[in-house]
Amino acid sequence: MDQPQLVDPHTEIRQEVAKLCAKFPGEYWRKLDADREYPTAFVRALTEGGYLGALIPEEFGGAGLPLSAAAAILETVQAEGCNGAACHAQMYIMGTILRHGTDKQKQTYLPKIATGELRLQAFGVTEPTSGTDTTSLRTFARREGDHYVVNGQKVWTSRAEHSDLMLLLARTTPKDQAAKKTDGLSTFIVDMQASLGKGLTIRPIRTMMNHNSTEVFFDNMIVPAENLVGVEGRGFRYILDGMNAERLLIAAECIGDAKWFIKKASDYARERQVFGRPIGQNQGIQFPIARAYAQMRAAEMMVHAGLAKFEAGQTPGEEANIAKMLAAEASWAAGEACIQTHGGFGFAEEYDIERKFRETRLYQVAPISTNLILSYVAEHVLGMPRSY
Ligand SMILES: Cc1cc2nc3c(=O)[nH]c(=O)nc-3n(C[C@H](O)[C@H](O)[C@H](O)COP(=O)(O)OP(=O)(O)OC[C@H]3O[C@@H](n4cnc5c(N)ncnc54)[C@H](O)[C@@H]3O)c2cc1C
Repeated sequence: MDQPQLVDPHTEIRQEVAKLCAKFPGEYWRKLDADREYPTAFVRALTEGGYLGALIPEEFGGAGLPLSAAAAILETVQAEGCNGAACHAQMYIMGTILRHGTDKQKQTYLPKIATGELRLQAFGVTEPTSGTDTTSLRTFARREGDHYVVNGQKVWTSRAEHSDLMLLLARTTPKDQAAKKTDGLSTFIVDMQASLGKGLTIRPIRTMMNHNSTEVFFDNMIVPAENLVGVEGRGFRYILDGMNAERLLIAAECIGDAKWFIKKASDYARERQVFGRPIGQNQGIQFPIARAYAQMRAAEMMVHAGLAKFEAGQTPGEEANIAKMLAAEASWAAGEACIQTHGGFGFAEEYDIERKFRETRLYQVAPISTNLILSYVAEHVLGMPRSY
């Protein structure tokens, strides 16, 4: 499957990441999936390769690469059958500190995040009662002298047990006292290791795929005031600032998943003989794979359009949202075609298809659900009234 690209400045990165991924074959992921364990060796290899520090500027010890390089890394991880969900957030959560942190915070955290000495890959936004309605979140940080006292709960905080730090979004002014509902929310760096057992409790949530997600409880947890990122009350904007990059990276992962499914399906369709001929000779088998391929290529172009805009210093809100939606739908279509092409074998664990099928389904819901992307396009691109 030859994929002509106009210019791909990241061919070498893709080749190197593919070589690294070859050391972590299907058996590795299958065993972790069965045991619901964290891919420590894989994450260590990516960290040591410098890939998770790709977006951290060189002055803070990172590789200082553009967003398109990070997208190429994550796409390749997925296209090679691995799972970047275990660590992708290490790449982008630090963006809030980089853009809005104090010099001291940047010097303290970024070099260690770049080397992997500190893992910042827990992002505490979603809560059980507020869900998508982020500004209704209830976790509250009350200032008392030189620290904040945090009470509340988060849900779906992925990788919390495998992270040293969490970027937390909490209310510092009650919603009904804030000038706007988007005011009065603040971002904090939480030292999770220091807080565990001292106001911080983490409980794993078992999910349909191996995602290391958790629920997190704060009971009078102390956060030093110096761990506030940026200005108190402006945290919601800081989180929004990072969303386009996050959406483009997740979209790139979905493109990688789609490529993995399409290759697996078309290889099998050429080889598998039924009624004395390859099943891929039947249009009923060919067309869903070809359609998924077309969907993937269209989504991939939207990812590239978003990355180009981002790297030109523009705001790719439209492209990032559309790319994320189309790419998540393309990976799902490809997964569906792949399972159908394999007949019964698609359900056998040793083919890895059912595992990737479960893993890729998430991206139509998280980190933002398809409905909310459609709402964004309707309101912000097409100028229709806000629906919520
Ligand atoms: C495995 C996993 C990992 C995650 N990791 C993290 C993480 O690390 N950190 C974090 O903060 N969050 C995380 N999330 C949370 C994720 O971002 C949310 O699940 C997602 O944003 C949807 O929120 P919700 O589950 O509360 O759904 P709800 O807000 O309850 O929505 C339920 C459904 O209703 C739809 N809906 C809601 N409002 C509207 C509307 N106005 N118009 C149309 N449709 C609407 C939604 O699209 C959705 O389909 C994770 C979730 C999962 C499942």
